[in-house]
Amino acid sequence: MSAPRPSEKRKRLIILGSTGSIGTSALKVARDIPDRMEIVGLAAARSASDLAAQAIEFGVKHVALTDPAALPDLGSALPEDVRVHSGGQALVDLIRDVKADMVLIAIVGTAGLRPALTAIEAGCDLAIASKEILVMAGQIVMENARRRGVSVLPVDSEHNAIFQCLENRDPAEVSRLILTASGGPFRSWPNERIAAATLAEALKHPTWEMGRKITIDSATLFNKGLEMIEARWLFNVPMERVDVIVHPQSIIHSMVEFIDGSVLAQLSHSDMCFPIQYAVTWPQRVKNSLRPLDFAALKQLEFEAPRRADFPAIDLAVHAGTVGSTLPAVYNAANEVAVAAFIDGRLTFPGIWQTVARTMDAHRVDSGSEATLEAILEADAWAREKATSLLGSA
Ligand code: NDP
Repeated sequence: MSAPRPSEKRKRLIILGSTGSIGTSALKVARDIPDRMEIVGLAAARSASDLAAQAIEFGVKHVALTDPAALPDLGSALPEDVRVHSGGQALVDLIRDVKADMVLIAIVGTAGLRPALTAIEAGCDLAIASKEILVMAGQIVMENARRRGVSVLPVDSEHNAIFQCLENRDPAEVSRLILTASGGPFRSWPNERIAAATLAEALKHPTWEMGRKITIDSATLFNKGLEMIEARWLFNVPMERVDVIVHPQSIIHSMVEFIDGSVLAQLSHSDMCFPIQYAVTWPQRVKNSLRPLDFAALKQLEFEAPRRADFPAIDLAVHAGTVGSTLPAVYNAANEVAVAAFIDGRLTFPGIWQTVARTMDAHRVDSGSEATLEAILEADAWAREKATSLLGSA
């Protein structure tokens, strides 16, 4: 028998954000295809008992818990031979300590940026769910990965779909990346009703089960805006070639239009196990227990243009992605602050985009040169402060 090709070997994976929605789906995939995935590191913020249970189930010897206050609960629940990292450097230390083939970044927000750069330095492939880090510093992440010769595999279902449609294609043959959007819970609501939307209403996503932040982002369409900028960097296309179409059934995960007018699409049920598995097993396809589509039962696939005037997140993203430099980081950071305020009941639903728009307006972009990591981090901190100061008046 011939030796397995590298991609056929059991892949050694670290999961950052293992107790969240993406993290637990990734562990489902690991249970489903155990001969292709070995979990060698797990990390969470404060869910100590869930993290301990995962480490025990998968025999993981290296874990990280970033919130030191939650550490006492973790220590007592773990076997003695498990090494625990904690505090601000925990994720970076975990990656440096463990020899992994791939790091899955599935943390909400921008806390995954430093770990992503560390993983690249360590020569690990990246599977990225955390779109915020590509929005903020996509150019830097992609350039570092290219220089170090590591792969960046998109886990976000839309980008994973585009990745599948693009495989082995000459970029010059692509005319448009078409991201599909479910439209969120307020897709058909009149504008006056959207203005009074509550947290409970915004958390009722019609097709996907996800964490709270991304569910709110799906209701405002900031999720789609973030994804447009993410696509711009992942696939190195100008912003004007990234488009959005509302597709309420979430069966087509995205499409690529080529210069000859043909369109390729990727379809599956809306279950994040599909894109996670493909990111891990790429370039191969591996049999699993996921339910295939039954086209006769689908009945219809609908499409409609997004209501850009009622959901300004999209046009704000186009502006941020077109200007580039530090503006995408400002778009992302102001949105994080505004969403947290909406969740806490300190901001109205339209207050989210209003806060982001006002923060972007107030930001001075140095468009003369490519933004450095320091400039991006500075803009991120500035935007958080600015957006927070604006909350009272939104
Ligand atoms: P969740 O809120 O469900 O989970 C977040 C995870 O990250 C938890 O494990 C949490 O730990 C951990 N975490 C949060 N902050 C830190 C930190 N500073 N250090 C270490 N761990 C941390 O989020 P989702 O899984 O929904 O989303 C994760 C990312 O994936 C987001 O960027 C989202 O946009 C993206 N994404 C999600 C999709 C989905 O279907 N959910 C789809 C596509 C993209 P703890 O439990 O201890 O708080």
